[in-house]
Amino acid sequence: MDRHFSDDYAGARGKFLAAAEDAGARLWQFAHPLKGPGGEALGTDIVRLGARDARNVVVAGSATHGVEGFCGSGCQTGFLRENWAARLNSDTALVLVHAHNPHGFAHQRRVNEDNIDLNRNFIDFEADRPENPGYAELHPSLVPETWAGPAREQADAAIESFKQREGMKKFQQITSRGQYDFPNGLFYGGRGASWSRRTIEGFARDCLSGAARLALVDFHTGLGPRGHGEVIGRGGPGEGQYERACAWYGDDVKSAAVGNSASVRLSGTIDFGYRRACPKAETTAITLEFGTRPLEEVHEAIRADNWLYARGGAEGSSHFNSIKQQMRTAFYGEDSQWKADIWARGQQIVAQALAGLNG
Ligand SMILES: [Zn+2]
Repeated sequence: MDRHFSDDYAGARGKFLAAAEDAGARLWQFAHPLKGPGGEALGTDIVRLGARDARNVVVAGSATHGVEGFCGSGCQTGFLRENWAARLNSDTALVLVHAHNPHGFAHQRRVNEDNIDLNRNFIDFEADRPENPGYAELHPSLVPETWAGPAREQADAAIESFKQREGMKKFQQITSRGQYDFPNGLFYGGRGASWSRRTIEGFARDCLSGAARLALVDFHTGLGPRGHGEVIGRGGPGEGQYERACAWYGDDVKSAAVGNSASVRLSGTIDFGYRRACPKAETTAITLEFGTRPLEEVHEAIRADNWLYARGGAEGSSHFNSIKQQMRTAFYGEDSQWKADIWARGQQIVAQALAGLNG
């Protein structure tokens, strides 16, 4: 099943589009205004399998966090190549959204072309922005002036002493919860709707708002034990969406609201966009989060990649390339066992979503 996975964005997109064509699936393409590192075109490509007027729709999305797209893309191509259309009844559709964030996928960044973390960008920008007062203290250390020498050493010492004082959990909460004040900082949520957000909400309004029930499965990587696929639900006990997720996906559904997830509590995740676009649908959203490398290593890769963006690093230099490789290792398993684990769990979860919608 390795063949469904790819080495770069262009390869992943090519495999997905070829599989969509062979499956005779309905396709929407949204061209991104920028290019990939090799000058290649970028876009979000969406395929729909099943009845056009189906009331039950599973939406499986990839690359909300660009570089994490290798994982979800492989599964999406697998669903097409292994004829998942045949599993759908007349009232159910499967929509595959390939590359929510194609720029990040192509450039091997988690964030988009504006350094925005797409999974923090779906807040209501008319309302007060979520506050994260702790971030300002850490920002200068997270984004040091230079990546080597005394500035870096000082920054690392400050981070280490913060972790010693407040604990790793608090450090993870503050840095990854999202912040809206430092555009060149980590986990930046933006100041307005990104290209990806406008594209996704537009598509959902036009093509999904007739659905009665939506199951959103967004594929991510970088948190949790290697190869393990954690289901992260929304809300907690007593809330419809959380209870449905538990009924469909089993007892190991985690939730940041409950406090047992590898992820911290977030504002502005992508499901809010689908929900805003499809207010009449009963929506059940999960993040399917696959582990890759230890948390501290993943966080250091994100920090290095952000530094490259914020402080500059010559494209093609060995330092630039080594940070790109660090990102790739942090978010893509690459070995056959990891891919096999992802594909097995990906199939299980999407099958459970289809069954749940029809239950
Ligand atoms: Zn992610």
